Amino acid sequence: MVPFLDLKAPYQELRAELDAAWRRVNEAGWYVLGREVEAFEHEWAAYCGTQHCVGVANGLEALHLTLRAWGIGEGDEVIVPSHTFIATWLAVTYAGARPVPVEPDERTGNIDSNRIEAALSPRTRAIVPVHLYGQAAAMPEITAIAQRHGLKVLEDAAQAHGATWEGRRTGALGDAAAFSFYPGKNLGALGDAGAVTTNDSALADRLRVLRNYGSRVKYENEAAGYNERLDELQAAVLRAKLPRLDAWNDRRRRIAQRYLAQLAGLPSLELPLVALGADPVWHLFVVKTRGRSKLHDFLADRGIGTLIHYPIPPHLSGAYAASGYRRGDFPLAERLAAEVLSLPMGPHLTDAQAAEVVAAVRAFEDRR
Ligand SMILES: *Cc1c(COP(=O)(O)O)cnc(C)c1O
Repeated sequence: MVPFLDLKAPYQELRAELDAAWRRVNEAGWYVLGREVEAFEHEWAAYCGTQHCVGVANGLEALHLTLRAWGIGEGDEVIVPSHTFIATWLAVTYAGARPVPVEPDERTGNIDSNRIEAALSPRTRAIVPVHLYGQAAAMPEITAIAQRHGLKVLEDAAQAHGATWEGRRTGALGDAAAFSFYPGKNLGALGDAGAVTTNDSALADRLRVLRNYGSRVKYENEAAGYNERLDELQAAVLRAKLPRLDAWNDRRRRIAQRYLAQLAGLPSLELPLVALGADPVWHLFVVKTRGRSKLHDFLADRGIGTLIHYPIPPHLSGAYAASGYRRGDFPLAERLAAEVLSLPMGPHLTDAQAAEVVAAVRAFEDRR
């Protein structure tokens, strides 16, 4: 049996640290916006190489509150990838603005920076590149476009904790970055959690107010804010896990190297491409194949778990039914949605399990 991702293993590895985190929060008797959140914010900002980090309730709100804090809303447009998890789009929609999709570079799956300028209008306010599957988007090109047109860049770094572009970590590559610490991410809480990193102190200040009912001083509400705070308990858990993140990412890299080497040259399988300048953290290892459902079933029969990220592009989902999109509007996103398959990937996948995956994929190919 090779599970797609083992979510129990981190506790087996870090039982003492995680139990201590739980005890610390219980003994302090302080559960919301206290020392653990503050300490995690310092530690995560230091890790990413930014001056500020603001903990929030989840990744979607990290995106949404940042757009709000910039005053982006009704009548504005925001560039998003056509191929992404729907949260990237929903954050723009929540803010009252319109997501404007741009097709991916098919080799990496990330937003194609060459197509961004054609999608700009006088209403465009920001670009939200996603570092999809753990690989940084082409940030130098994207930030250059943003500078030329006076736009903000908000990294959606929910899949890319620790990934770099030319040695600089995601989280520090735009005007601000949104992270998710959903349990399955490279750094995961025991439930929902998120954060924004930035070097902009005015933005950080605004986010602290927005996440907490628009309030700086209790019961004084200077803005119509939200309840989107990061819990003390989740912050304590993240602090316990953060020291392991680099080692866990290295382990993912080794598994990816094995997959890339041992699955190379199979005629029906397209392997992920790493762009020059990017050092991915392999949140997912995504292959492309026309025979996806057959490969999925073949692997499932051998106890190997795979998933699809993502089967329905946002523009064809029910959430955007009222926007009038049709099949064929974003053919590259549609093709990826039809062909991508994520192989087992995680820091606790053993060499034997990775070998089993390789052997099974090769056996599938031989049978064709
Ligand atoms: C997980 C994810 C999000 C949303 O994070 P949540 O914490 O689940 O709200 C946003 N964008 C991308 C690309 C993601 O993978």
